[in-house]
Amino acid sequence: MIEVLSVASEIYPLIKTGGLADVAGALPGALAAHGVSMRSLVPGYPAVMREVAGGRVVYEFNDLYDGWARLIAGRFAGLDLLVLDASHLYDRPGSPYVGPDGYDWPDNWKRFAALSWVAGKLALGIVEGYQPDIVHAHDWPAGLAPAHVKYGPSDRVKTVMTIHNLVFQGHFGPEIFPRLDLPPHAYWEGVEYYGGVGYMKAGLAAADAITTVSPTYAREIRTPAFGAGLEGLINYRADALHGIINGIDVEAWDPVTDPELGQNYGTNTLHKRYLNKAELRHRFGLQATDGPLFSVVSRLTGQKGVDLIAANVDWLVSLGATLIILGSGETSLESALYTAAQRHPGRVAIYRGYDEKLSHLIQGGADAILVPSRFEPCGLTQLYGLRYGCVPVVARTGGLADTIIDANEAAVEAGVATGLQFSPVTSEGLGEAIKRAVDLYANEKVWRKIQRRAMKSDVSWSHSAGRYADLYASLLGQERDEQFGN
Ligand code: ADP
Repeated sequence: MIEVLSVASEIYPLIKTGGLADVAGALPGALAAHGVSMRSLVPGYPAVMREVAGGRVVYEFNDLYDGWARLIAGRFAGLDLLVLDASHLYDRPGSPYVGPDGYDWPDNWKRFAALSWVAGKLALGIVEGYQPDIVHAHDWPAGLAPAHVKYGPSDRVKTVMTIHNLVFQGHFGPEIFPRLDLPPHAYWEGVEYYGGVGYMKAGLAAADAITTVSPTYAREIRTPAFGAGLEGLINYRADALHGIINGIDVEAWDPVTDPELGQNYGTNTLHKRYLNKAELRHRFGLQATDGPLFSVVSRLTGQKGVDLIAANVDWLVSLGATLIILGSGETSLESALYTAAQRHPGRVAIYRGYDEKLSHLIQGGADAILVPSRFEPCGLTQLYGLRYGCVPVVARTGGLADTIIDANEAAVEAGVATGLQFSPVTSEGLGEAIKRAVDLYANEKVWRKIQRRAMKSDVSWSHSAGRYADLYASLLGQERDEQFGN
């Protein structure tokens, strides 16, 4: 059994702001089937502490970045957790990264330096009876963990750094370096970033292996257009870089059993989706009953191409379609969408906020989901769309390119199409894709065929979990046990 310590700043179902949480929450279960035991080190935010406060205290720190702290071992929703209970760092309202005022917590450097420092200590076996073989760090908040392992006294433990989104890098001033408890030479060997400290960069420089969440994004981040300033280092480390596509939790996301759907359905009972569509119309106050219902479930940001959606609202309505949007984000984009919705009462509606349950109903009732991202490391909403027959209309980039088979004539004819892709990622590109989707929808037989094929796509973790297991084993110089191979 390979022991992996996963280090993540969010984990579903305890705390989630995006896809990282879904991945951190789903991987442990998926890996168990491949002979890997994964424990997750997470910060003790209030939402986490509520669930594990009664757990077993396995270690105490008298002074962890200016306060007392302890590690609590607990289980929740099948997850084996080590929670870093440090109230001076994590016991506050707001999201993991920003306060209620919408600004980053000013001590974020410290909050996540502490998390990685503790990961480094766990790698040395400070908790009795526990020492991981691998430390697997996710995104910049865990970026210093591979550095702590690399510069620590033992070289038994190997490290993996996973990039979920390269744009968020954890870039801080040089004055924090002396507080990181790394040797001085670590600065110039990889921690230094544009005159300061880069947490993501430190992880990319120090880790034994780097992964990102799709093969296409793994290629894209080697170019200046997608590398966000780190393409030089990533190219230098290309031999250590692997693109492994994300899966989804196919039990939590199953239209046959999903409790959030008023009407469950499967590939042979797709017609029943209309009841969920009716429920959505009711909830969003839509009047129109004709034409396809497009949807968006997303952070409302430039990365997600939300401006392209706003620019296409009039066009979409002119084609006889309707649109619902669930999300929140940049103020200017939110107001562009509100203005568009006001122009089309009864045909376009926006629900501002985060609502996990509603996101299930949208996948189970809308006809298509728009994902026009400018870049997309993997993307999860198109995977949920596949699973629910909510046909994904996606930009040809990153994981979107890797997971959707475009409904061009040949693919439709061959019965392999699962959605629509468009390129270039412009407002015109999205507009053409919307028109193509409306035309395909008009042919019920073809549309059903695409939906069915989409629903049969393998979006589970099983294949990708096997790839992570292979990677861990190869870092440890082991052959994977045959019984777990796939
Ligand atoms: P990212 O992590 O870049 O935001 P992903 O597509 O990888 O994008 O993951 C986003 C996750 O967050 C998905 O599980 C999606 O369903 C969910 N999500 C995004 N916005 C909302 C929202 N407003 N309400 C509910 N779920 C949301």
